[in-house]
This record gives sequence, C-alpha cells and structure tokens, in this order.
Amino acid sequence: METGKKILDKLKLEISQNEYERYIKNLEFSQEDSRGDILIYNTNNILSAKWIKTKYSDKLAHLYEVETGIKAEIIIQTKGKKEKKVKVTSKKERSVESTVLNPTFTFESFVTGDSNSLAFNVAKSVAQNPGSSYNPLFIYGGVGLGKTHLMQAVGNYRLNQGDKIIYNTFEQFMNRFISNIRSNTMERFREYYRNCDILLIDDIQFISKKEQTQDEFFHTFNELHSLGKQIVITSDRPPKKIAGLVDRLKTRFEWGMLANINPPELETKIAIIKKKATMDGIRLDDEVINFLASNLGTNIREIEGTIIKLNAMSNLLRQKIDLEFAKNAIEDYVNEKKKSISIDDIVKIVSQELNIKPSDIISKKRSKKIVEARRVAIYLARNLTPNSMPQIAVFFGMKDHSAISHTMKKIESILEEDENFKVLVEEISNKIESKK
Ligand code: ADP
Ligand code: MG
Repeated sequence: METGKKILDKLKLEISQNEYERYIKNLEFSQEDSRGDILIYNTNNILSAKWIKTKYSDKLAHLYEVETGIKAEIIIQTKGKKEKKVKVTSKKERSVESTVLNPTFTFESFVTGDSNSLAFNVAKSVAQNPGSSYNPLFIYGGVGLGKTHLMQAVGNYRLNQGDKIIYNTFEQFMNRFISNIRSNTMERFREYYRNCDILLIDDIQFISKKEQTQDEFFHTFNELHSLGKQIVITSDRPPKKIAGLVDRLKTRFEWGMLANINPPELETKIAIIKKKATMDGIRLDDEVINFLASNLGTNIREIEGTIIKLNAMSNLLRQKIDLEFAKNAIEDYVNEKKKSISIDDIVKIVSQELNIKPSDIISKKRSKKIVEARRVAIYLARNLTPNSMPQIAVFFGMKDHSAISHTMKKIESILEEDENFKVLVEEISNKIESKK
C-alpha cells in the first residue's frame, strides 16, 4: 500500500511546484482506510478536495495503474475533526501489489443475479475449458459492474492450474508496444505476448483510432488464437459501438462470445452488500442493508467504497452501524457538508468579501465586478449546497440550468488560469465553511 503514497511523489513530477504546494503536499494517504482498488486520501478543506478530485484523481489512478496494474477508485475526503484524534482500527490488507492479478477477484467472491449471470457462467466455462468454444470472450458493460473482476477471476482460476497469464489494460498493451518500437525491440514485444496461455485485455474501448496499435493487436490476437490460447477482452460497450475500431478486429471480437453485464437489480445489490460486509467482517443488519441497497447507485465499486467508509466512521466514532447511523453517513457521503449552508448565506458572505450588495449579486446587472461576484456565488452555491442547477438558476434569476452550467464552465476555466483568483475563491469558501 506504500504505492498510494509513492504516486504522490510521481504526481509531483507532472505538475507545477505551485500546484503541488497548494494541493498535493497536504494530501494525506490514508493507509488504514484504503485497500486494493480503493485509495483514500484526506485533505482539510472541502473545496480543495473537490478541486483535487476533478484535477488530479484521474492522474493518480493512472499512476497507480502503471505501478500495480490495478485500476483504482480514488476517494478524496475532507478530514473530520474527530479523525485527527482517534485512530482507525487497522484493516486486513489485501496483498495486491506483488502480483498483477487481484487475488480477491475470484468466481467465489462474485455475486450473481439476473444482471450478470450470463457473463459469469460464460467466464466460468472459459476458465474450465480455455481456448475452446468461447474464444475470444468479450465482456462489456458500464463502470464498476464487475468486468475486471470476472476477467481476473478467469485469470486467477487458470493461474491455479499453472497457466501463464498476461493481464494488461489496453493502455498498458499500447504503452509496451510504443516503448518497444522506440527501442527497436519488437521481437521482445512479440515474444512476451506469444509466451502466455491466457491473454486478458481490459478496457479495450480506448483502442479507437490508434491504428498502428490496432494492427499489432490484430497480429497478437491471430497468433494466440491460432495456437488455441484463450483471449478475454472487456470494454464499456460492444464492439460495434467502439468508434474507430477497424472492421477486421470487430469481426474477430464477434467470433467468440459477447457477454453483457447490466447494472445490478435490487436483490443483487443486497446480496453484494451482504457479501462485502461479511468478507470485511462488518456487521450490518437487514434494515441497514436494504436501506443502502435502495439508496446507493448501481456502481458496485462505489457501493464498496460506501461500506468501507461506513465501517471506518463507525470505528472512529465508536458507534454501531444502525439505520440512523447509516442514514447520516450516506447523507454526508452524498452531500458532504452541503446541507447546512443556504444559497442566501453564500450570497451574503460573497457580498461582504467582494464588497458588492447582495441585491446586485442576484440582479441582472452586467458590470464587471458584479458579474464576477455573481459567478463566484454561483460556483460556491453549486459546490457547497445540495441545490440542483435549475434551483440555483431560479435563485439567481437566470433563464435555466444551462445558464448555470455555462457559468460553472466559465469560472472553472478562470480558476485554472488565475492563481490569485483561485486563492480568493478558496478563502471565501473557507469563510463559508467556518460559519456553519
Ligand atoms: P468494472 O471493471 O466493470 O469497472 P470491477 O470489476 O472493477 O468493475 O468491479 C468494481 C468493484 O466491484 C470490484 O471491487 C469488484 O470486486 C466489485 N464487484 C463488481 N461486481 C461484483 C459482483 N457481482 N459481486 C461481487 N463484487 C463485485
Ligand atoms: Mg474495469
């Protein structure tokens, strides 16, 4: 898990000194709460948490994936005051760094229901009889629905049978290809892939328009396929919907088996929550489980993240996870601390800080300073309150939600360019936070 910390140093090399000092330096990797494919970082202010999330979480996920081969969810949270004093009980850690496959991604730990049983059954049959009827196996479906899990379950199963497995995201395949071209070592590249029994290529949707890599992938595919080696591919969409995928690959992908994973229905969600809780030794009664299942979305990675967070909070606060606790916790999770601030409060504080009358902020006046104050107020209203864009539009007397979304884009681009302005907005945000 040290890698969680290490990638912060790597990120340092990719961003300006200034950005690093302001945002990343104070970011704390939470060893206790993170595990395998969920990395949790703490920071001390909600606005910078949001900023870090939009600006850096993809980069961090990417750096982590390059290090470990694991696609992780990055969670940036604001540190609760109590958290500083009490230490979280340490959790069993999954040893995922030593091997490329996540050892917990097995068929046994995969919960089935209508949404995923086809993909599950086919994957299992592929694991039992690789290279025969379903070759390639192409699994597709939305984010966090278990594609990587199933694919690696095939890998883990075959690993136990002594097979040599290569698991790569498509991006890793491409990077390896590019670096071998550069160093003129394509022989080594081909040797590497030719020597496996099972090839697992994750997230192939990124193949679009990369012609040279598609060519090379086509050769790799044909070679392995003709040797009867099993190939498993995942994507967020079916082959025919991958724009820029060349026809000959499209046809190859459709040779074998296309298996779709749908978002889990309620019963499957309930079963998944039960299983995760049991695996992590977390006690949840049925009432809580039903509540979570019906109030969380269908992204199973997010569901897992919520359970981990619930458990961490219950340890911190030394409280049992009952319905009330879960309700509060999820409310926090979804709305962060937005609830107690109203748009009115925000307008008042912005008005004091920027010396513009509240009535001007919500007017239609177009003078430069007023427009700026209005933008700041809208931006903070969107980030610090649970109000929807249409609600904010009504408050500021704007036409509709698209006016708000336009303002948000505008201010985000100014924030990106103007460091002083960013500091100003953060200071106002801190003032608002401290008024709660
Ligand atoms: P995807 O690759 O489709 O984005 P993952 O396979 O990474 O999603 O799954 C995200 C998380 O959810 C993983 O931790 C995985 O173990 C878990 N998960 C997904 N589907 C299931 C399932 N049916 N049963 C148990 N865990 C699941
Ligand atoms: Mg995946």
